Amino acid sequence: MPKKIPMRTCVGCGTVRPKKELIRVVMTPEGEILPDKGGRAGGRGAYLCNDPACLERALRRRSLQRAFRVPQSEISAPDRLREEIGGTDAG
Ligand SMILES: [Zn+2]
Repeated sequence: MPKKIPMRTCVGCGTVRPKKELIRVVMTPEGEILPDKGGRAGGRGAYLCNDPACLERALRRRSLQRAFRVPQSEISAPDRLREEIGGTDAG
């Protein structure tokens, strides 16, 4: 029996992909969305494709707000996150 691959849904485009191919993001108490690279940060997480378009779409469609259950005004995507997503994988 092949191992079951954990699948997750991108909150930006709704595509279901293997968890490993998606970027897990978490929200800090300050309401910033940050990448959770090791997958170890606690709390509620959301998943995005490694594509800046998915981040933008998730913000526009309030998918992240829904995922983290916060009002739209309490969420922000810092440049740091924008650089992480879709950036080069070197470093
Ligand atoms: Zn996506």
